[in-house]
Amino acid sequence: MPDEKFGVIFGKVLKPDIMSAFHNYPSKLLEQAVREFAALPGIGNKTALRLVLYLLKQEKEDVESFGNAMIELKKNIHHCEICQNISDTEVCQICSNPNRSREQVCVVENIRDVMAIEGTNQYKGLYHVLGGIISPIDGVGPADLTIDQLELRIKSGETDEVILALSTTMEGDTTNFYIYKRLQTYPIRVTTLARGVAIGDELEYADEITLGRSIIDRTPFEVIFSGRKQDLA
Ligand SMILES: [Zn+2]
Repeated sequence: MPDEKFGVIFGKVLKPDIMSAFHNYPSKLLEQAVREFAALPGIGNKTALRLVLYLLKQEKEDVESFGNAMIELKKNIHHCEICQNISDTEVCQICSNPNRSREQVCVVENIRDVMAIEGTNQYKGLYHVLGGIISPIDGVGPADLTIDQLELRIKSGETDEVILALSTTMEGDTTNFYIYKRLQTYPIRVTTLARGVAIGDELEYADEITLGRSIIDRTPFEVIFSGRKQDLA
């Protein structure tokens, strides 16, 4: 009879390693902290345990400051009421900067894309953060994104150009097309990044020079869209 702590699956005795032995934790508090870390993307149980044990060794004040930073983050962060970017204030630093061009709105999936484009130093307009892209497989539809807010911004008449800067994936293309259709009745230019960004690439992984060039060499969306129509014919 194997030790019950080791567990048995299909008659095989499992090794008493960390992965299979959550119930072996000497402390419920430790187990709870490990579980919280392990719930984060890209963190397995082993890494979670290592991080928790590391925190446990630190000074009480340092661990408190770590915990408080997480609590404050969730409690006090805003989504900019104009562009939906993450911000400490109701209107973010980009939207409230008088030196940014208010006529251009660059539509991106998330804040990491804003950071990537800002890193190129090639863009001086504003942003609109969608909070994702349309992906039926993941159950994400237009209503789950900030497309209504985008349309309201365009309706207000300040914008001349909407630059679609979404990932060059099928979901990105679907979202581009949906937004293009939604905004078609407004007197604005809809452009998209030049395809220096490789097909299938996620924007945040494009290097700064490629991404910077793609912003400068952007293309009217109709050109790409009608090109596709010809391909399909
Ligand atoms: Zn903003």
